[in-house]
Amino acid sequence: MPRLNDPDERTTAPVGQTDGQSSPRYAGLTTFARLPRIQDVPRHDVAVVGVPFDSGVTFRPGARFGPSAIREASRLLRPYNPRLDVMPFSDQQVVDAGDLPCNPFDIAQAGKEIEEAAHALIRDGQRLVTLGGDHTIAYPLLRAMNRVHGPVALVHFDAHLDTWDTYFDAPLTHGTPFRRAAEEGLFLPGSSAHVGIRGSLYDPQDLADDAELGFTIVHCADLDTLTVREVVDRLRQRIGDAPLYVSVDIDVLDPAHAPATGTPEAGGMTSRELLGILRGFKGLDLVGADVVEVSPAYDHADITSVAAANIAYEFVSLCTKGS
Ligand code: MN
Ligand code: MN
Repeated sequence: MPRLNDPDERTTAPVGQTDGQSSPRYAGLTTFARLPRIQDVPRHDVAVVGVPFDSGVTFRPGARFGPSAIREASRLLRPYNPRLDVMPFSDQQVVDAGDLPCNPFDIAQAGKEIEEAAHALIRDGQRLVTLGGDHTIAYPLLRAMNRVHGPVALVHFDAHLDTWDTYFDAPLTHGTPFRRAAEEGLFLPGSSAHVGIRGSLYDPQDLADDAELGFTIVHCADLDTLTVREVVDRLRQRIGDAPLYVSVDIDVLDPAHAPATGTPEAGGMTSRELLGILRGFKGLDLVGADVVEVSPAYDHADITSVAAANIAYEFVSLCTKGS
């Protein structure tokens, strides 16, 4: 695989989107943002990849169909991001790496497959943007990140903590990825945060157990009094200059902004608040990110997959040099 810092490989101009001025955005075969497939170009700086896995859900299923729905919604995305002032698809080579293999009947096996395939995409320092899939996949993705970058600062947007120990005795579900990650030291405890937490819990002890893992929490209700800028400042102070991994469970958004998800909770963030916080990470060392838990069968007018496609667009934009 070509290396990012190889000057010979650098001379090839990035291949961007199919031109929306000559072929309208609703036409043609679907890749993320109408970008080239990984096999169409010699190298990549950023890989966008799908993980069609939802065998770890505890309520509504269907996130295995998330990657294809998000890709379809991503046809809307245009080449210039005015808020970050970058051209994310021409200042770097971004590719659609297709969907990773993952066994739908064996969660542990799927985890190994996801980790290996993700690692192959990033081993020379490339960035990874993942379209889920349920939240179980964050654990093997963090394992892959750890093999390249060591422990990362983890910012986790979610209505839920996802640090429970087991559910029906199962250790790997979409409610446990960050407990498993904590046990293996995959993230920096003093540099990590949950954002958007809300809703009912099984027990008050859930919050106490979570605090022991080293997360700080920006509760969704904190946004009643804190501005987006204040939340960003708090998070950036925490992250410092550590390599950053961002995991967005789409249920962090209010069901009005993201109805199609496995475990909806009332009283969530707006998509404007979430995009504003993500843009506030400009200049940080984003090494990987995911947007998970889009379950398209519950969607209306593609509200949820449009939100997810725009979140992925901000991730790719944040990877752009100079952002
Ligand atoms: Mn959630
Ligand atoms: Mn989650």
